[in-house]
Amino acid sequence: MTGSVAGLPVVWHPDCLRHEPAGEVWLGVWEEGTEVPERASVLLEALTLAGAAVIEADLHGPEALLAVHDRALIEHLATIWRQWEAGGYPAEYGRNRVVPYVFPTAGLLGGLPLRPVAAVHGQVGAFCYDTMTLVGPGSWEAIKAAADAALTAAALVTAGQQVAYALCRPPGHHAGRASYGGSCYLNNAAIAAAALRSAGAGRVSVIDIDAHHGNGTQAIFYDRAEVCYASVHVDPGAGWFPHYVGYADERGTGDGEGANLNVPLAPGTGDAAWLEGVSALCEHVRGRGADAIVVSLGVDAAAADPESPLQVSAEGYRRAGEMIGALGPVVAVQEGGYDLASIGGLVVATLSGLLAAG
Ligand SMILES: [Zn+2]
Repeated sequence: MTGSVAGLPVVWHPDCLRHEPAGEVWLGVWEEGTEVPERASVLLEALTLAGAAVIEADLHGPEALLAVHDRALIEHLATIWRQWEAGGYPAEYGRNRVVPYVFPTAGLLGGLPLRPVAAVHGQVGAFCYDTMTLVGPGSWEAIKAAADAALTAAALVTAGQQVAYALCRPPGHHAGRASYGGSCYLNNAAIAAAALRSAGAGRVSVIDIDAHHGNGTQAIFYDRAEVCYASVHVDPGAGWFPHYVGYADERGTGDGEGANLNVPLAPGTGDAAWLEGVSALCEHVRGRGADAIVVSLGVDAAAADPESPLQVSAEGYRRAGEMIGALGPVVAVQEGGYDLASIGGLVVATLSGLLAAG
């Protein structure tokens, strides 16, 4: 099940292939991992075959990243591999990727301020909140290129394009203002939303249809009225990542009170109930008014995906695209999706739905 995406701008940068996490440490044991460079190659090939117009991402300065992220996080991500290598971790200790081992939780600090830490291996947990989001030699180049792709797609929509797609890798929606995790480093969707705002869009909504809750995006905009976040995802209360966040009673705070919407779904949910969830997100966004939409386009809610228990079909994704595309101009940002055999068709199906609506 695919559709037509002839002429759709697909923004991409070859540096997105340079991030090789080389697996993850899951429950204390190294595993191969599924966030692999081939994901991007497979998507690029499927979109090219479906007639999309592939455009290379423009490079951007740090300002657009600083609109969303703390400078300290950006500097950490940009330099930690060099520090790790200089510290001899790969050569002398056989640690071939940056991985945290101690986390300055509220319980550890006991109310004391977070100090700068001398040991490189002690610094990582101040930013990285899990052990499955590793950094290697080409990671920063890919992280930066993914953000550049999102920014370039946002600029196309600002210039009048109805739909533009950013083929971002690594994904972004689990990354917060000063934190990274969940295979995400910088929040590409939030960066696109902030860029749309600064280019003049009064109200921007992020609609997240990845199988997992986008805890990073939610946190970034939680107290903001002008960017609303709405997500349908597998229920963290049923035992799924990000475990601590993504519940239905999280509605925003302060100026953002009522702007946030979470629709958690039971494992095993298929098209009918998932599309009802997407429809609820669209109603919420329509009610608040949106000049532009950012879609966190994860296709890991599909039945064949190894990372989630949801059972959505390609036709379900296409119909979600139609619903979302009817709301306004859309920047679609790639998030998850890990079954290499089916993700190309799923992304093409969603984008064809977005285009059919526009
Ligand atoms: Zn996901």
